[in-house]
Amino acid sequence: MSISTQLLKGIITKNNPSAPLSFTGVSTDTRTIQEGNLFVPLIGERFDGHDYVEQALSKGAQASLWATSVPVPESLKNEDRLLFVNDTLFALQAMAKAYLRQTEPTVVAVTGSNGKTTVKDLLYATLAPLGSIYKTQGNYNNHIGLPLTVLSMPANCQTLILEMGMSGLGEIELLSKLATPDIAVVTNIGESHLEQLGSRENIAKAKMEIALGLKPTGVLFLDGDEPLLSHYVKEGVQTVGFSSENKIVIHDLEAREDGYSFTIDEHSYDIKLIGEHNVKNAAYAVSVALHLGLSPEQVARSLERVAISKMRLEKIEGQKGALLLNDAYNASPTSMKAAIKTLKAYPNYEKKVAVLGDIYELGIDEEALHRSVADEITEPITTAVLVGEKGQWIADEMKRRGSNIPFVSFVEKEEATDYIEGLLDGKTVVLFKASRGLELESIVDKLKREE
Ligand code: ATP
Ligand code: MG
Repeated sequence: MSISTQLLKGIITKNNPSAPLSFTGVSTDTRTIQEGNLFVPLIGERFDGHDYVEQALSKGAQASLWATSVPVPESLKNEDRLLFVNDTLFALQAMAKAYLRQTEPTVVAVTGSNGKTTVKDLLYATLAPLGSIYKTQGNYNNHIGLPLTVLSMPANCQTLILEMGMSGLGEIELLSKLATPDIAVVTNIGESHLEQLGSRENIAKAKMEIALGLKPTGVLFLDGDEPLLSHYVKEGVQTVGFSSENKIVIHDLEAREDGYSFTIDEHSYDIKLIGEHNVKNAAYAVSVALHLGLSPEQVARSLERVAISKMRLEKIEGQKGALLLNDAYNASPTSMKAAIKTLKAYPNYEKKVAVLGDIYELGIDEEALHRSVADEITEPITTAVLVGEKGQWIADEMKRRGSNIPFVSFVEKEEATDYIEGLLDGKTVVLFKASRGLELESIVDKLKREE
C-alpha cells in the first residue's frame, strides 16, 4: 500500500499509465519537493501551480498532475509525465480519501474555535500507546493542508489525528466527509471568523459539520459547557466539561504552579500546562483515550509528558527575574479572557501585568467584543497595558467604567516595550496576548533574559 496512481482511479482523464506508478509522496510546492514525488499544481488567487510544473519535473518529480482546462505550453507538449485530471484540487482530495480507505487508520478529528492544536498534541501523547501514530504537522488543517497531511502519513499508521480548521460554512463538512472520522471532537465555540459567519450560532453550526462525515460507529465528543452546542446533543454524544450535567465531568480541579490536577471518574490526572482551558483540552484527550481502550493509568502517565507547540502560554524567563507568559500565538475574545483568568490565578507572583492587543477578524461587532474584554480585567491584575489600534477600545472601556485597575495604552509596540521594561522585577508575571498579526512576540523577544 503506497502513494500511487491507483489512488487516482477514475480521475485521470488522459495519459493514465498502463502500469501503476508509485510515488515517494505528494507535493504542491517546488521549494520543498522531493525526488520521486507527484507534483500537484494548484490554482490559487495569486499563483497558478501549472507555471511550476517544469521546475517540479526538473527537480525530480516522478510525474505531475495537469488540469485539462489549462493549455499545455509548447515546452511540455511531448512530456509524458503529465497526468491529466479535471480539477487538481479535487484530485488531491480524492487521493487522500482513497489512501485512507486503503490504509484504514483510526481517524480522530479535532475542530473548534480554540484549542484544536493543543488537543491534537495532547491526543498524540495519550494515544501513542495504541501503536503507530501520526498527526497534522503545524497548522495544516484546511482543504489543502488536510489532504497533504493524510498523504504524508506512513502507510502502517494505526491512529491518525487530524486538525480541521475553517473560515466559513461547508468547509468542515468537506474535510469530515473526506476523512470519515471514528472520533470527532469539538473543543469550544468562540468568536474566531465571526466576520465571515455573522453569529456564534453559525460558528457552532459550522463546527458541528464535523458530525456529517463521522462513521456510523463513530463517536462525537463536545464542549458540554457551551449552551450553543446543547441542541446538538443526541444519544451517544459524549459531553465533556465542568458542569455536573455532562456525561464526562471534570471534578476536583486544583491549580499548581506548573499546571493542574483534576479527576475524571475517580481517576486523577496531572498536566504540566497552565491555563484552565487546558484542563478541558486535556479532558478531551483523556475521554478519547479511555474510549479507545487505554487504561486511566496509561493515560495519566502519557499526559504528564506532554510538550505543547510554542507560543501557547509559553513560560519565558524575563529580564530582572520577571516571568513572561507568551500567548501571542493568536487571540479571540474568549481565549483572551481565558488567558487573563489564568494570569489572575497564577500563584507566587505579587504583580500581574496583562499586555493585551488587537484581535482581528471579528466583523461588525469588533468594537463591542474588544470592550467586553474589560469584564475580565479585575483584581488581582496590577496593570493592564493595551497595545495597537483596536486595543484602544479596551482602554477606553476601562476608562468609561472607572476601572480600579491601573492601565496605559500605546498604539506603537516600541513605546509599549519601553514601558513594560520598567515594570519588570522578580515579583512580576506578564501575560502577552493578541492576534497573530500584531506580532506581540517581538516585545517578548526584547524583554526576555539575555543569555
Ligand atoms: P488555530 O485556529 O490558530 O489553529 P487552535 O484552535 O489550533 O488555533 P491552539 O493553537 O491550540 O488553538 O490554542 C490557541 C489559543 O487558544 C491558546 O493560546 C489559548 O489561549 C486558547 N485556547 C486553547 N484552548 C482553549 C479552550 N478550550 N477554550 C478557550 N480558549 C482556548
Ligand atoms: Mg491550530
